[in-house]
Amino acid sequence: MEEHPILRRLPSVDRLVTALLARGRSLALPRPVLTEVAREVLDEHRQAIRLGTLKGADPDQILKTIEARAERLARPSLCRVLNATGVLLHTNLGRAPLAQEAQEAVLQASGACALELDLGTGRRGSRQDHVASLLRRLTGAEAALVVNNNAAAVMLVLAALAAGREVVIARSEQVEIGGSFRMPDVMRAAGVTLVEVGTTNRVRIADYESAATAHTALFLKVHRSNFRIIGFVSEVAPRELVDLGRRLRIPVVYDLGSGALVDLRSRGLPHEPTLPEAVADGFDLILASGDKLLGGPQAGLIVGRAELVERLRTHPLYRVVRPDKLDLAALEATLRLYLDPEVAWRRVPILRMLATTPDELRVRAERLAAALQARGIGAEVVKTEAEAGGGSLPGTALPSFGVRLPSWRRSAERLMARLRSAEPPILARIEEDAVLLDLRSLLPEEDAVLEASLVAALQGVGD
Ligand SMILES: *Cc1c(COP(=O)(O)O)cnc(C)c1O
Repeated sequence: MEEHPILRRLPSVDRLVTALLARGRSLALPRPVLTEVAREVLDEHRQAIRLGTLKGADPDQILKTIEARAERLARPSLCRVLNATGVLLHTNLGRAPLAQEAQEAVLQASGACALELDLGTGRRGSRQDHVASLLRRLTGAEAALVVNNNAAAVMLVLAALAAGREVVIARSEQVEIGGSFRMPDVMRAAGVTLVEVGTTNRVRIADYESAATAHTALFLKVHRSNFRIIGFVSEVAPRELVDLGRRLRIPVVYDLGSGALVDLRSRGLPHEPTLPEAVADGFDLILASGDKLLGGPQAGLIVGRAELVERLRTHPLYRVVRPDKLDLAALEATLRLYLDPEVAWRRVPILRMLATTPDELRVRAERLAAALQARGIGAEVVKTEAEAGGGSLPGTALPSFGVRLPSWRRSAERLMARLRSAEPPILARIEEDAVLLDLRSLLPEEDAVLEASLVAALQGVGD
C-alpha cells in the first residue's frame, strides 16, 4: 500500500518517549509502559490519517495526548470520592462507608493475621469465628454464617436446601435488586423450581398452604427493599408464615435485604425490619447485606437455625462464596460497635448520616456557601431531599440541606464533569439545571476536604 505522506512525518515511538521523559515530569510509569502508550496513540493517529479524519499530525499534540493518557494510567482509578449526591448508600460509590474502627481493622488484617487460627490453643480455627458469635449475640439467632454478599447468601441457601425441589414465593416479592439479580433467574440458576403464589398486590396465607406439596423445600419471603406497593394490598404477617412452616415442616427463609440491627424509629425514621425482629418472629433462616443499613463491608449475613446453617457451611458452594480476611475484619469491627447501640449511632457512618438533623445540615451548608462566596464563587444554600438508597427505606425522602452552584459555561453537565476531575473527585446531582451538593451523604469531617476540593476546582471558573 502506498504510504500516506503525512505518515512518514510522524515522529517515532522512541523519539516521543524520550521527549516525554525530557519534559522532566515524573509520570510514575515504567518506560516500557510509556512506550506502549506512545505506540497506541501513534497507531490511532495513523489510523485517523489513513481514514482521512485527521489532516495533519502535530507532534506536540501527539505528545500531549500521550501525556494525558499516561497520567490517567498512573492514577489509581479506585480512588476516594466525595459523595454529595444525597444518596447515602450509593451503589456506584461503594454503598456503605466504613466506620473508622472498621477501616483500622482492615489495615490490621492486611498483613499476616489470625484468620483461621485459635490463638489460645494454637490450633486451626474458622474464619467465621470472628463474626459468628457477635452475630448470634446481636440478633439472638442460634447460628450465623457470613458469605461474600447477600446475593451469594440467597444462592447458597437455594442450592444447598432446595436444589431439584420447589420454593414458594409471593408474586409481589419477586424482586429485581439491580444488575442482573432477579429472583426468578436466581432460582433457575440454583436449580430450583419457583412456585408463585398470590397476585401482584395481594397474597394470603391460604395461598401458601395450598401451594405446599411433598416437593416443597422452602417458603421464601423477600423484603421489598427498593419499591413499595400501595393501595389494595394484603400480605402475610411474618408470624403467620412461620407458623404455617412449622405446621407443615417446611423451613421459612426471609431475605431481609438491608439487614438493620437497630430500630430506625428511635431516630424518628420509618420502620425498616431488623435482624433481631426477624429472629424473634421465628424465621428458620434470615439473609441480609452487610453494606446497606448495617453500615459494614460488602457481605451476606445468614443467621438462623444451627442445623440449617451447618448444611450451608458444608455445601461445596460455600467455598466459592466465603468472605476474605479484609471483609471479615471490617465486619467484625462494625459489629462490635453495635454491642452498644448508642455507640453504633455515633460511630457507624450510615447511621450518623440518617440521624443528622436538618438543622445541623443547614448550618454546614451555610458554612460551605459562605466559604465559597468569600472566594468569589456564587453559591446558595438550598433545602433538599436526600434518600437512603441502596435498597433501603424506599420512597422515604430525608429532609436535607445543600449548596447550589452557578452553572459553568451555562452547562450543569460541564460543571459536573469538572467536579469529577477535582481532587478528590466530587459527585453531585443536577436539579433544575443547576448542580446541587447535598450534605446528608457526607460526614461533617469531610466538609473541609469538600470545601478545599471545590475551591481548587472552581477558582477562576467564570460563567
Ligand atoms: C440488596 C438485596 C439483595 C442483594 O444483596 P447484595 O448484598 O447486594 O448482594 C438481595 N435481596 C434483597 C431483598 C436485597 O435488598
